[in-house]
Amino acid sequence: MLSADQSYQAVLTRDARFDGRFFVAVKSTMIYCRPICRVKTPLRKNCSFFTHAAEAEVAGYRPCKRCRPELAPGASLMEVSSELARATLSYISQDFLAAESLAGLAVKLGITDRHMRKVFQDEFGVSPVEYWQTQRLLLAKQLLTDTHLPVTSVAMASGFKSLRRFNVALKERYRMTPTELRKLQKSKVEDNASGFTFRLAYRPPFDWEQILSFLSRRAIPGVEAIQDGAYFRTIRVSRQQKEFTGFMEVRHAAEEKMISVRLSDELVPVCGVILDRVKRLFDLSADPIAINAVLGSLSKARPGLRVPGCFNSFEMAVRAILGQQISVAGASTLAGRLVARFGTPIATPLASLKYIFPSASRIATAKVAEIGSLGITGKRAQTVSALAQAIQDGDLLLEPGHKVEGTLRKLRKIPGIGEWTAQYIAMRGLSWPDAFPHTDLGIVKALKEKNSRKILELTEKWRPWRAYAALHLWSTLEKTS
Ligand SMILES: [Zn+2]
Repeated sequence: MLSADQSYQAVLTRDARFDGRFFVAVKSTMIYCRPICRVKTPLRKNCSFFTHAAEAEVAGYRPCKRCRPELAPGASLMEVSSELARATLSYISQDFLAAESLAGLAVKLGITDRHMRKVFQDEFGVSPVEYWQTQRLLLAKQLLTDTHLPVTSVAMASGFKSLRRFNVALKERYRMTPTELRKLQKSKVEDNASGFTFRLAYRPPFDWEQILSFLSRRAIPGVEAIQDGAYFRTIRVSRQQKEFTGFMEVRHAAEEKMISVRLSDELVPVCGVILDRVKRLFDLSADPIAINAVLGSLSKARPGLRVPGCFNSFEMAVRAILGQQISVAGASTLAGRLVARFGTPIATPLASLKYIFPSASRIATAKVAEIGSLGITGKRAQTVSALAQAIQDGDLLLEPGHKVEGTLRKLRKIPGIGEWTAQYIAMRGLSWPDAFPHTDLGIVKALKEKNSRKILELTEKWRPWRAYAALHLWSTLEKTS
């Protein structure tokens, strides 16, 4: 946590490393900004500092039109100290409250409504609903500024049930109408019919090549493709019992220090959820300064390294099981066969993208022998089936930050999921930065240590960023081989 003086210093120097770590609110204008804002630096006496945009908004400040707080990178899961607050936040970011009540969320987390609100308020300084309201309005602001989407569609995509409610909320918080916000739109917003482009910021340095090459090697044929320096994939997202399918393209806009995400038209109503998952997949909330300070010399070679997350936890977990004890290329082949057999066909402009990864419910209804007929060994086919069943029955929930230890225990109970697979799923599927697959052969080789107890002792100094340490260790092997 930065002190007020350190924060002001970051504002004075427009230090991008602190972007998204806090917001500066200015009393004389009642506007809040990112530390990197280009407007004239406010006087120290007029500044207040808030960790979360929602706190600034609840205190009566509205977001700056120049630096656009909605584009700032988010907070890392590790910065949220309470596990319950973390889980609540994860659900809110996945738009849970659009379809369910706060009480419903508390039931999902297995706690009382009152306890959940208290824990959340203590952590974020605002209530879950206030936080969600900020998230929705910032998304609406982004859509009004960056797309030509009609105002009614913007309201729906941001989770408002009616245009009237949207207008009221916007007026109340931002003292603006949608039309006034839309006027901020730059003329360069492309009016093309083929998709909508969004931008997401990160904290530099960001090693795009590293993460793209990691994803490229593990791409699932038919579902993911890496082409011309960009990542493409097919998508299915459910919202309020409705399914949305389409595809996306993710590129690096290096000079802007941003990631650009283009979505096919059909996905715009669920763009909030999709952007949240893109942040997970590309680890955009990571704070390299905090991480590298702990990892020390290990992080020297690749200071912008990220831990690749996932877009769909079930897909990622299945891919991990298929990859047990076989080559990365072999696992991709098997994943491709699984997709061609059980996936949903979809048409996209990219010839190689033609399936949506099968849902857990689809795999849960498949016979083990059917999965096995694809060349997947009987034991692994059983594991894939059991994983799908556990998810389908609601016994297992693969969500970031949600009861990590409990989820690990449940994963290990599935026959065929050992410590390596459980830790690997925690690292990528649960975005758990402290996960560490200590039995991994690459790790053993990189550390030149075979004794797992000694390996674990060695990793103590890298807590709570051991997942980053694992990625660094793997990357040292790539260089020498
Ligand atoms: Zn600003």
